[in-house]
Amino acid sequence: MLPKTPHQAPPARALGLAASLTRLGTETAFDVLARARALERAGREIIHLEIGEPDFPTPMHVCEAGIEAIRAGHTHYCPTAGLPELREAAADYLSATRGIAVSAEQVLVANGAKPFLFFTILATCDPGDEVIYPDPGFPIYESAIAWAGATPVPLRLREEREFSFDPAELALLLSERTKLVILNSPENPTGGVLGKQELAEAARAIAGTEAWVLSDEVYSQLLYEGEFASIAGEPGMRERTVILDGLSKTFAMTGWRCGFAAVPEPLIEPLVRFFVNSTSCVPPFVQYAGIAALRGPFDEPRRMLEEFSRRRRLIVEGLNALPGVSCGWPGGAFYAFPNVSALPIAAEELADRLLGEAGVAVLAGSAFGRFGRGNLRLSYANTLENLERALERIERLLATL
Ligand code: PLP
Repeated sequence: MLPKTPHQAPPARALGLAASLTRLGTETAFDVLARARALERAGREIIHLEIGEPDFPTPMHVCEAGIEAIRAGHTHYCPTAGLPELREAAADYLSATRGIAVSAEQVLVANGAKPFLFFTILATCDPGDEVIYPDPGFPIYESAIAWAGATPVPLRLREEREFSFDPAELALLLSERTKLVILNSPENPTGGVLGKQELAEAARAIAGTEAWVLSDEVYSQLLYEGEFASIAGEPGMRERTVILDGLSKTFAMTGWRCGFAAVPEPLIEPLVRFFVNSTSCVPPFVQYAGIAALRGPFDEPRRMLEEFSRRRRLIVEGLNALPGVSCGWPGGAFYAFPNVSALPIAAEELADRLLGEAGVAVLAGSAFGRFGRGNLRLSYANTLENLERALERIERLLATL
């Protein structure tokens, strides 16, 4: 029965929080988005280049499949590992896009790619273990590593190598304490892509260790040139690699919260146990939409990529035309990561002033790790028109420095 009178909560001051919370980081993009929204509520007009999600609608045939599944009553708990039909579709999709044989039994489904990141780290690492991860990189990596009590070991992505890493540096960082190596390609926040050569060298170095590999490939289909390469395709890597992908980026489905991964056999049961403990399952109607996405047709993802390609040209050329700004060509994803270290103010202050004074929301590169210092991240998941307006506003602000 519902209580008739509201329960009197003690004052928040008196309640303690876990000391371990100091180890849990966050994703600055969401903080900047909240600040931008507050400015909008106060009447300001903001151009959003901070948040990493496609601005396109989810393909209609995918929405219809989700709606149809709700109508058909697929609105209850379902298997934690994922619906067999979605595991099958994801296995076919991963096999076709990676050129690797993946079976449905190896695939797990979760509420986005993020739970795989968090729980793979928790399932493999104890305090004292080391985890190598890309820096600049998706901030959740470092947060989850620290939360697990493991030691984050940043692997520097080098601007002069188009934001790939130096395999010799990776080899130096690997030790008997390395429990997990996280790779991400195409990358957030740099748009860099790891080439076959680096991946082959990395695989040779990792093969001599006891480390698992978590290959975050959520942008695998947002690649502007060449063929996508996964480290899982390198000799000896398949058995130790979690190949992580999801619906969010490729199919403009960020809000549906559905990711999937090909998981090495010893990690399947522990991951399912984490999912049982936390989320139970991905809503079945979301999974039916996922099946429609992964089975195609793929015209809309193809059109999105073409549009991202036009935007990439506009933003990169526009940024390079600004004095004191230099920007390489992102090979994938939808992020530009210009170097602004030649400007008279720090990138953090610039990001702050761009939002407050120019109404352009961007992120400082340092939100992605210490090696991101001196850069900005601009998500070009916005219209050509808005990107042009943003460039004009940035130019005007730079002229005042
Ligand atoms: N991995 C990377 C590199 C990302 O950039 C993101 C989202 O921004 C994710 C994982 C999380 O994706 P999902 O929406 O599937 O949880």
